[in-house]
Parts: sequence; C-alpha cells; structure tokens
Amino acid sequence: MSEPAETEPLAAIFRRLIANTGPISLMHYMGESNARYYSAKDPLGTAGDFVTAPEISQMFGELIGLWLADMWINAGREEPVHYVELGPGRGTLAADALRVMKRYGLEPSIHFVEASTALKDVQLATVPGAQWHHDLSTLPPYGPILLVANEFLDALPVRQLVMTPEGWRERMVIPEGERFACIAGSQPMDAAVPEARRAAQPGTIIETCPGAAATVYEVAGRLIEQGGAALFIDYGHDQLRDGSSLQAVRAHLKVDPFVNPGEADLTAHVDFATLAPIAQSRGCKWLGTVPQGRWLRNLGIDARAQTLAELAPQHAQAVEAAKDRLVGEGQMGLLFKVMGLASPSWPGGAGF
Ligand code: SAH
Repeated sequence: MSEPAETEPLAAIFRRLIANTGPISLMHYMGESNARYYSAKDPLGTAGDFVTAPEISQMFGELIGLWLADMWINAGREEPVHYVELGPGRGTLAADALRVMKRYGLEPSIHFVEASTALKDVQLATVPGAQWHHDLSTLPPYGPILLVANEFLDALPVRQLVMTPEGWRERMVIPEGERFACIAGSQPMDAAVPEARRAAQPGTIIETCPGAAATVYEVAGRLIEQGGAALFIDYGHDQLRDGSSLQAVRAHLKVDPFVNPGEADLTAHVDFATLAPIAQSRGCKWLGTVPQGRWLRNLGIDARAQTLAELAPQHAQAVEAAKDRLVGEGQMGLLFKVMGLASPSWPGGAGF
C-alpha cells in the first residue's frame, strides 16, 4: 500500500510538481513548507525548535494585557469587546493577558485565528472558551477588537524579486542535488517593482509579504468599522531594505531553508516600514513602531520583575534572566519591534 499523501515528505511532492509543471515560486515553497511544518506538531519551547517571548516569561503577556485594558478603559469600556489573537501558539500569551485584563473588569470573548490542528489542541487546554477561525472574515462583526499577533507575520510566505541583466524576475525554486535552490524566473516582473526602486544592480533582491500586507489591511478595516486596537510584534525592520531575510530554524539552530522543506520553521523579517502606511491608508491610527525592549520598559517591566522576584525570592535570578532576554539589546530587545494600531476614535497607547 502506498503511504497516505500527507506523510509523504514535502521534498518529494515538490520534486514531482516541479518535474511536471516547472519551477515553483519561492512564495509557494515557503507557504507549503510552513503549512506542513505547523500542521504536524507543536514547535515551541525548549524541547521544540524555537522559543517565543510569551514562553520566556509571563511578564510579556501580562504587560500586553495591561496595555489592552488601559486602551479599552480610556476608550470608554465599550461592550461587547473581543480579544483576537493571530497564531496564538500554545495560548500562553492569551492566558497571561486575559488574567490581567480580568482584574480590570475586562472579560472579552476570545477568538483565535489558527491554522495548526496540533496547536489548536494545546490552545483548547490553555484557554478554555476560545473560538477558532481560519481567517479574520468570520470574526464578530460588531464591538471593538483587541488584537494581538506575536511572531505571526514572520511565518507568512514572502515573495522575492531579483534584478537580472534582463530586468526584474521572481525568484523561483528548483531541485539541486539533495537540496533545492533559487533561480530567476523567466517572466518579466519589472511592473511589480515600485518605480523608485526599479533601477538596481543585478543581484539586488526585493522581498515583499503579500499575506502580511493583506492581514494588516484587514485588521485596520476592522478597527475602523468596530473600534479597537492592535499590536503586531515581530522581528523585523522599520526602514526599507534590500536582500533576502529568509531563514530556517530547527532545534534552536539556523539550518538551510532549502533542505527538508516542512521540517524547519521558515521565517522572514517583517517589513514594518511598509505595513504602517497600509494601515494609515484605511484611516487607521498608527501609534508607532518601537523596539520591543523600549516598549516593555515603558510599560514597567522592571517594576513587574521586581515584584515577581520579591514574591518568590528563590526565582529572582530566573526572572531577571528572562527579563534580559526580552529587553536586552543583544537579545530580543532591539531586533523585535512592536507596532501599535488603533481606531481613530481610540486614545493613543502607552509605550510608543
Ligand atoms: N504567537 C505564538 C506562536 C508563534 S508561532 C507565540 O508567540 O508563542 C506562529 C503561529 O502562527 C503558530 O500558532 C502557527 O500555527 C500560526 N500560523 C502560522 N501560519 C499561519 C497561517 N497562515 N494562518 C493561521 N495561523 C498560522
């Protein structure tokens, strides 16, 4: 009997597809690889492939909960109100944030946008009462939205264009021995490059993330229609850049993204410089895009760490070490950014 299709290695499926229909786009390669990767397992934590901020310390989710509660209170405590998280992982951030929100009288309905059935099972145990969605279209149509997306946009597939002597081309993927490799596609793509960036040296790469742009566009529309605020937190840059930022991580180590697709987490830097104007183009208020370390400090992570250390002196060192990972300049503090958005009728947010 042949193996069921879903357990066949993705590399074999890609090889067959490319042999039959020609090179696939890098965006297709990354999208399918991550769909496979996330569908099968829980990749988070020390025993998995990577560790995220909410898994490092409860302080992360708590301060996000505090920020959302502050926004909601200043906006007039409107009900019904909805907590929405995109790609909630193990549900740790949501659990920490909701616990703090409850102390301020904020008990929103809970909505998770999640593609992975493996992670859904974990979320079900961590956050009973949550409702799941495939995408944003099925969220409640009225009542303000308090939305959080931590390390979600970086997992969405990027499209890369490369300058060649013949003009701009899309980067495509073909097999090369045991691995895969990128080549320039045959279709001219000059029209897809903004005019200001069109003249470039051969070899220049421009990376865009249509899924991230579409997500921010949708969220901004919801904030305009329903009220609310959103936080997008991810590693990335707030100035326009060239070059590929595609990377793969497996068992806490960087690995070749073109070997064993579907078995490592593929991510790319989030281009916050492009996302803020997309939100503003819909009339949404952009609160700012600031380094994670600065944002957490502005919200009082030092005081929170001190309180936790006093409550459990035996854990004081671990609390301090976790805080350093979140805010340290050589750690997550500078590379990770927090972008805040709000409905125009909502207040400006703390920390920006
Ligand atoms: N926010 C969590 C998890 C980050 S990992 C944390 O900080 O710990 C990325 C998350 O996004 C996972 O939950 C993954 O299953 C989800 N995800 C990735 N691509 C997705 C997609 N296209 N649609 C919905 N969820 C997706």
